[in-house]
Amino acid sequence: MSVYARPGSPDALMSFESRYDNWIGGEWVAPVEGRYFENPTPITGQPFCEVARSTAADIELALDAAHAAAPAWGKTPVAERAIVLNKIADRIEANLEKIALAESWDNGKPIRETLNADIPLAVDHFRYFAGAIRAQEGALSEINADTVAYHFHEPLGVVGQIIPWNFPILMATWKLAPALAAGNAVVLKPAEQTPASVLYLFSIIGDLLPPGVVNIVNGFGTEAGKPLASSPRIKKIAFTGETTTGRLIMQYASQNLIPVTLELGGKSPNVFFSDVLAADDGFQDKALEGFTMFALNQGEVCTCPSRALIQRDIFDDFLALAAVRTKAVRQGDPLDTDTMIGAQASNDQLEKILSYIEIGKNEGARVITGGERAELGGDLSEGYFVQPTIFTGTNDMRIFQEEIFGPVVSVTSFADYDEAIAIANDTLYGLGAGVWSRDGSVAYRAGRDIQAGRVWTNTYHQYPAHAAFGGYKQSGIGRENHHMMLDHYQQTKNLLVSY
Ligand code: NAD
Repeated sequence: MSVYARPGSPDALMSFESRYDNWIGGEWVAPVEGRYFENPTPITGQPFCEVARSTAADIELALDAAHAAAPAWGKTPVAERAIVLNKIADRIEANLEKIALAESWDNGKPIRETLNADIPLAVDHFRYFAGAIRAQEGALSEINADTVAYHFHEPLGVVGQIIPWNFPILMATWKLAPALAAGNAVVLKPAEQTPASVLYLFSIIGDLLPPGVVNIVNGFGTEAGKPLASSPRIKKIAFTGETTTGRLIMQYASQNLIPVTLELGGKSPNVFFSDVLAADDGFQDKALEGFTMFALNQGEVCTCPSRALIQRDIFDDFLALAAVRTKAVRQGDPLDTDTMIGAQASNDQLEKILSYIEIGKNEGARVITGGERAELGGDLSEGYFVQPTIFTGTNDMRIFQEEIFGPVVSVTSFADYDEAIAIANDTLYGLGAGVWSRDGSVAYRAGRDIQAGRVWTNTYHQYPAHAAFGGYKQSGIGRENHHMMLDHYQQTKNLLVSY
């Protein structure tokens, strides 16, 4: 075990600035109205920096910079754009520990996750799209003996991107890497709950891009996000966040008839068929580990397996083992490398989760383990910690239907394959799902029958850059990751030539 020194303390690997402006046109620019908001760490609840509270005027400045930069970046040969993306990846990798620490301090997530998953995935994402853009080819169709149709990929121009607080750096990367590879200039707004790590990232990588190609404007949803998403000066808006906000984003975008990518909420089923307990072996162990994934990232994952469906004949036995496994998931100081569950990202989120736990209790669900705020003592006593919580109940309950976005799993049983699929699909959402069976044909069939954009079979929570990710139903529109994502940031030019 080792515990990282807190940012800003004498032994710390990194420290934040006490105040962050917006990153516009390759420099730090104070907000037009001169206002800032306080940013606390969820680990102790104490503010550690203040951040620009932007308005429409700041968005306009960022759009000016982006429009000035977009034509040259869009015409930069793909090989050169790829070099820039690879340099960004190398710079992040060289500073991985510092960036991981910044991300954990700003968001409350365990440093073992930021060191081993979030930041390495961000590095890989830039490298993947650096390669993907070089491999992209146009198309040619012969229309007749003397006429040819050429198809070219062109960047959209200036695009807007709005991200949430649960994976600040990874979400920024998922959006920036394909947009930049495709030749666009970007105005990106981080979430107001976790602005600092993305700003810290740009203090490290900002000089690698031509000024204005990426602009970061901070602030709140209605004050800064809405003017960005409604602007007639963007050619696309890419948004990750709640389904209710996604509906608003679509309304704003419709005024300018621009395309949207929406990555929204989820209530993902994790389905365990009887044969997972057929032997006390590695497969059973993996399935139990898969159950505990509801607590990964404190449950603040859009694909959190927040509904567990267990086949009736193994229900009691599997649940007993799963409860033991859940209690063993170590909760504590996120900067301790042994910690597996850290703090919720904000006080509002903590309150929301605790209120859903009350809702569950009041609607008759049974608490198997957890069910309270976690009291960790010392300087963590004001931090935003919740015990991993297992409920049992029925799929019509609110805790089975509404996104809690915390370390809470609602467990129910099913009799047979058809009932499993019916319960799994009885939700507004369709983002992620898990299926666990030793029988490959059952796992495959369930994977196809569940209405979700990503179904993990006999695994969970892997996010490689080269696998398409996105939602069915009210979980979103469009896809992220995979080279097909480049299409979302380009338009097709058809040149029809008669020789
Ligand atoms: P949120 O919708 O409240 O906020 C997301 C972002 O939108 C923030 O930057 C916020 O400032 C901005 N925003 C809020 N109101 C706005 C408005 N009217 N106009 C423009 N921008 C506005 O979501 P959140 O609470 O930050 O994030 C959690 C949600 O994100 C969960 O529902 C989760 O499932 C979802 N999520 C989805 C994915 C995915 O890939 N599908 C990934 C991560 C998170």
